[in-house]
Parts: sequence; structure tokens; C-alpha cells
Amino acid sequence: MKKMTLENIAKILSAQFFRKEDYQEHLIEKIITDSRSFFDIEHSVFVALIGPRNNGHNYIEGLIAKGVSAFIVSETGVISDKASYILVPDTTKALQQLAAFVRRQFKYPVIGITGSNGKTIVKEWLFSILSGQFKIVRNPKSYNSQVGVPLSVLLMEERYNLAIFEAGISQPGEMQNLSEIIQPEIGIFTNIGDAHQEGFVSTKQKINEKLLLFGSCKKLVYCEDQEKTNLLIDEFCVEKNIEKVGWSFKNRASKLFFTYKTETGSTKISAFYQNHEIHFEIPFSDFSSLENVCHCFAAATALNADLTVIADEFKHLFPVEMRLEIKRGINNCLLVNDYYNSDLNSLGIALSVLQQQAAKAQLSKLVILSDIKQTGLPKAELYRQVNHLLQEWETVEIIGIGEEISSHREAFAMKGSFYPSTEAFLNQVNRSKYQSAAILIKGARQFMFEKISAYLQSKAHLTRLEIDLNALTHNLNVYRSLLKPETKIMVMVKAFSYGSGDIEIASTLQYQHVDYLAVAVSDEGVHLRNAGITTPIIVMNPEQQSFQNIIEYGLEPNIYSTPLLESFIKTAEQFGVKDFPVHLKIDTGMNRLGFKTESELIKVTERIKQNSYLKIKSVFSHLAGSDESTFDDFTQSQFMIFDKITNLVAKMLDYKFDRHILNSAGIERFPEKQYEMVRLGIGLYGVSGTGLPLRNIGKLMSTVSQVKNVQPDETVGYSRKGKVTEESIIAVVPLGYADGLDRKLSNRNGSVFINSQRAPIIGNICMDMMMADVTGLDVKPGDAVEIFGDNISISEIAEKAGTIPYEILTGISQRVKRIYLQE
Ligand SMILES: *Cc1c(COP(=O)(O)O)cnc(C)c1O
Repeated sequence: MKKMTLENIAKILSAQFFRKEDYQEHLIEKIITDSRSFFDIEHSVFVALIGPRNNGHNYIEGLIAKGVSAFIVSETGVISDKASYILVPDTTKALQQLAAFVRRQFKYPVIGITGSNGKTIVKEWLFSILSGQFKIVRNPKSYNSQVGVPLSVLLMEERYNLAIFEAGISQPGEMQNLSEIIQPEIGIFTNIGDAHQEGFVSTKQKINEKLLLFGSCKKLVYCEDQEKTNLLIDEFCVEKNIEKVGWSFKNRASKLFFTYKTETGSTKISAFYQNHEIHFEIPFSDFSSLENVCHCFAAATALNADLTVIADEFKHLFPVEMRLEIKRGINNCLLVNDYYNSDLNSLGIALSVLQQQAAKAQLSKLVILSDIKQTGLPKAELYRQVNHLLQEWETVEIIGIGEEISSHREAFAMKGSFYPSTEAFLNQVNRSKYQSAAILIKGARQFMFEKISAYLQSKAHLTRLEIDLNALTHNLNVYRSLLKPETKIMVMVKAFSYGSGDIEIASTLQYQHVDYLAVAVSDEGVHLRNAGITTPIIVMNPEQQSFQNIIEYGLEPNIYSTPLLESFIKTAEQFGVKDFPVHLKIDTGMNRLGFKTESELIKVTERIKQNSYLKIKSVFSHLAGSDESTFDDFTQSQFMIFDKITNLVAKMLDYKFDRHILNSAGIERFPEKQYEMVRLGIGLYGVSGTGLPLRNIGKLMSTVSQVKNVQPDETVGYSRKGKVTEESIIAVVPLGYADGLDRKLSNRNGSVFINSQRAPIIGNICMDMMMADVTGLDVKPGDAVEIFGDNISISEIAEKAGTIPYEILTGISQRVKRIYLQE
């Protein structure tokens, strides 16, 4: 965000500023509203918001104890003279005011998006197609509320040249606020849903309220095919003197006219625009995606972006996560998962997707539905309408979960059963009851319907790496049990967390309160920060080009050489940071990165002491042979050097720093050397050299695609390497060396696990496939295949492939889908 002093901020808010005794003026770079966030103590200010369930003022005391010294508050209560604060009547309003001020500092175009559905998708897709031509700032996730929008707008900086913000409202009167904060120049009105949702009395009132976002716009993008909306938009645009950028599927005379042809899984679209004809394709075939894509295209015309370039981008669009998910279920069932929101509108959309999926395979339709939240309707009327919708979409059965829906069970005309909670349902459910049905699983977030989905999900489909997050937590706790309670843990999440995933793993670890995450390069750290990870992150191999990102994203560099230190100091100076945390790496015998001599280290420490830019947070080293007892003498010598050097540094500094040298095997074998912190890697992912009771976290799974007979004179695969001596049965499995399966496992060296038995790999492993000899086993297409997991260990595979488990784990290709399981 734009840097400001607390004095500036107080002035912008016309509020009183109370300085603590030893207050020194400095620049604020981060506005924080979540007390669990990352704090750059010097440069953050905490805004104590008061929400329906939570009062930010309750966290102030704890934050002061942590050293946070700047607050924006509406109650002075616990703040004495230990912190500086700005006193305002309403902290949410203050946040909005500040964002509106920041917004006015930038002249680049701002796109504002609102409507009943599709806001996040249109925003994310616009971002995808325009990223090649613009530097874009946008709302993280769907931060589109009265707090989310200001937090998003505060992210605006000079380095961007386009902003895309979505705005969502839950009741009348809110949009004007958001409009003043976003001040869009180009508007996108996605669509309008049913009036009752969101507490409006009529569709007209609702449309008019949403249009308030666009008061400042020069251009407004919308679909002309919705008559009611069209009329109101006409009036609005005339009154406000806004250029209409309407598009249509129906009206050839429209300025922007689209035709389309739907195919399985994709749609070909033609756009007719100012005597041009542009053709492109999207990897979706449902109507909502089509509508969203057309909004994006129209917005690109309003921006005068290069349309031929953009046309090419459309085929790479991805579904926006956290939305509908379609999965194969047990017993020929199909699951449509939508457990991230629940309202009438999105129920309608989900039912239409269910309809599509059910029709394909002629399945009957069943809906598992939770209580519906966030609606302005009286409950009886609400569930009457839900029943109506379900009937309209020919649902044959409802399973209602929640106290509310259960108490309105008589509203439903179809076959139904009701449970007070997800647990109650799972305790009573009988899987065999569900046969050849398309099942919509839709519930409000807190019902955690993912558990139901996991339960009804077919275990045998596609090639995938299943990651068990509970096992991860278990392993973390196993290592914790070897450490003193006060010893900090840094978890190595470099290399896509040893192949197991980035954001999912990092958020699990953050939730488990690990003290540090370590990535290899700064991009990995930026990626985590962008995903909302606030745990301190150390970058092991920082590069000069990444210093700016390191500072802006609050990452902490490993400083391992003098040139690196000098150039980091230079950047730190440019940014005017103070006490920026850095970590010194010393080389005690590995002969990889690090300062090797005492004299080097003395100079470096002196240099850091000389100025106020950097602060040494930790000094560390790495063991070269911690897992092998033959090297124990050498390891002890590493400890000795480490002690000597860290003592030296400690003498030179007037503040404390952490020391750490143990990796996973080190923790297991030399727990007495845990110092203040340890660095956990492979052990977390389930591999232990000393036989700790770890759980396996990853299962590499696939499915048999085809089964065939092979005669003794025939061979299997390339170079005719797969020989059989008798009539044999071969199973083809769609996973090859391009997925990360080591080719050295070919020709019966390795095996896979199918239907409770091992089957040797026959012939050479191909790029995308391999064959297993399943003679004598009862195997059919569709059966699950384990490559490694509970039955075949990663260590075994590594040994057969002549490598180490690390390489097996990190070698699983990115194209293998990671599926996360959590109880
Ligand atoms: C990767 C790494 C670790 C973790 O090692 P494991 O053997 O996986 O526990 C620790 N420290 C450093 C510096 C590393 O690069």
C-alpha cells in the first residue's frame, strides 16, 4: 500500500492522534484487521474492527505484548501509554475513509464489478486474460464486503496500472459506501438474481441499489438480454451520462454481438464488434461460464485492450476455485459439490448444473442441503421457495441437514429425510443406499459438507496424489514431542512442500502455529503471502532481483555471503526499512551456502550493527550427514564450530537471536542440540530414518484403464521389453515417467498395488502410461491402483529406483492432481 505516517492517517481521518511516550515518526505500510496476521511491527497499524461476533479491541492487549504499537480504535480501554493510537468514532468507517483517500491518489483505470452472481469469476478471469497487458491489483479471494473492499483498495500502488474490484452487498444502503471507495471508471454489471435474497423488497430496488456502484463510471458493461435490467440501466446511464457497453446473444444490431456453439466440455464463441469478427474458445460448456466470459470480453473492449491477444487467452481459463466441483461418486453416483455458500440464487445455479450432469448419464436427482443462511425471507417462506425450486428441477429426494431445515420439513413435497447436523447424518448414512444418482451437496460453509463429499466420493478415479492433512499434523506432533515446549519449529515447504502442495500445506501449518516456514526462492514466498499466509517465511536462496519482493511481502532472507548482504542493505536503504529481519547462514562443513570463517562472520555482524536497516533474527547452519552414524564424529565437529561462531556473534550483539542447526534426522538423533529452533523437512512428510511412528501423508493413486490378455510369444511396451512366459493378463495404468514415476522401476523392478495385491510393472514405463502384470488377480478397468501409499512405501520405491525419498516426493509432476483429505 501507499506509505503514510500515523500523523497523515489521523489527518485523513480528521481524528485525534495519541502518541506514546517514546513515539518516533515512521511510515506505515500495512493496515491490519486480523490479529493473527503477519505484523511488521514498525510499519503496521492494527484497526480494531467491531463485527457481529468479534471485537478487535479484545486483541489489543495481546498485540501490545507482542510489540505492536500503533492502533486505530473507537474505544481507548486497555491502551495506556504503551502504544500510539488514533481515536475514531467508528473503525469500519475509518478503514473505508482511508481506502477512499488512497483510491483518489491513483489515476489508472479502475474496474468495478457487481451483480448477484459471477463477480469473483469475472474478476479472476479478467485478471487472467488481461495479465499479459496490464499490471493488475484486485481483491484477494472474494473480499468484496464493507471491510473486504477497503482492504482490497488499500492494496493499490504506483506499480500497477489497472485495478479490478468486486463489490458485494448484503442489504440496502451498503453500495453507496463501496462506490465511494472504489470510484470505478468502468463498471461491469454481471446479472441479477432473485430479489428476496439479500433482503430487498423488489428486483427493481435491488437493481437500483447495485447500480449505485457505477455512479462515477464512464462506461458500463452489461448484458442487454435481460429486459428488466436493461430498462433500468438505460435510465441510469442517461441520467449519469455513462457510455453503455451492452452486449447480446440475441440482438444482431448490438454493438457487441456473440454467437456460440456448445460442445462437450467447451464452447466456440464468435464476437462481432465494430466490423470485426473474433473467434475464440473456452473450456466450459455451461451458460454461466459463457455469460461471464462475454462480460470479460466486453470489458476488454471498454479498456481498448488488444482483443486478438485476449482471444487466445480464453482457452486457458480455469474454473475459479471454491465453487462447484464435480466428482465421481460411489456406486455410479455423481457428486456436485457446492459447499461454500448457500442462498436461493446459488441453489438455482447449482440445480441447473445438477440437471446438466444428471441428464448426461440419466441419473436421478438427489439434493443434500443445509440450513440456508443470509436471506431476508421469513423461514417458512424461504423453505417453501426452496421446495419450489427443487420441484422445478425435478429433484426426487432431499436430505436436509440442520436444525432449521429440519423444523421446516413439512415444506418439502418430495421424499425427504432430515438430520440436525452433518455428524448425525454421517453416523446414520448407509452408502449402499446411494445408487446411480446425481447428488448435489450444497451447504453453508460451517456445515462442512466436504465430509459428506469425501464419504460419498468414489475412491477410484484418475491419477492423483492424495495428501492426508491429518497425517501431516500427526507427524508434526510426533516431532514436537521430541522437543522442549519452547523450541521453535521452522517447517521446510520448499519445492512445493516436498511435492505435496503449497497453500494447503502452508495453511495447515499456520493453523498448527508453526513458527516459521522456509521456501527456496522468493516467488514461493510471494505465492504463499498472496494466498493469505501470515506465518513468518524465510527465503533460503534469495536472489538480488527478488529483494524488493522480499521486503514488500515481509519475507526474511537467508544471508549467506558478503556481496548478498551489501546488495540487500542497499535495497533496505532504498525502502527505508528498519530492523528488517535477516538470517545468517554459516557453513560448518557442508560446503554449500554460508559464511565459512570467523573473520568473515565478524565483519558481517559489524556491518549489520553499523546501521539500523537490518536485524539478525537467527544464525544457523546445516548438517551434512545427520542421518548416518558413520558421520557422527563429523556432525559433532559441526556442532562445535556452530557453538563457537554463534557465541562470537552473541557477544557482539546487544540483542538475542535464535540458533538452529537440526533438520529432521538431526531432531531425531541429536535432540540435545535443538537450541532455540529446529528445521523440519522430510519427517513431516512421513519419512523417518530412525523408525519414528510417523504416518504416511501421500498416496499416489491411479486407475486401471484397460485389461488385456497377452500370449507367450507377444511382448508388452517399447523395445519389446515386457516378456511373458505364459498366457498373462496385463493392466494398463495411466501414469508414466512424465508423472514422476521413475523409469528405473520398469521391467519388474517395481510393482504397484491393485485389489489387495502387488502386481509387478511389466515392460518399460512409458511417458504417460505403464503396464502391470495382473495375471491371476481379479482386476477390471476402473480398479484403484496404488503406486505408493499405505502398502508400498516411498522409501521402498526410492531404494528400487536407486535414489532417496526426497527425489521421489519432489519428482511427482505438477500435472498430477493433488487431492487433500482432512477429517
Ligand atoms: C531442506 C533443508 C532442511 C530440511 O531437511 P530434511 O532432511 O528434509 O529434514 C533443513 N535445513 C535446510 C537448510 C534445508 O535446505
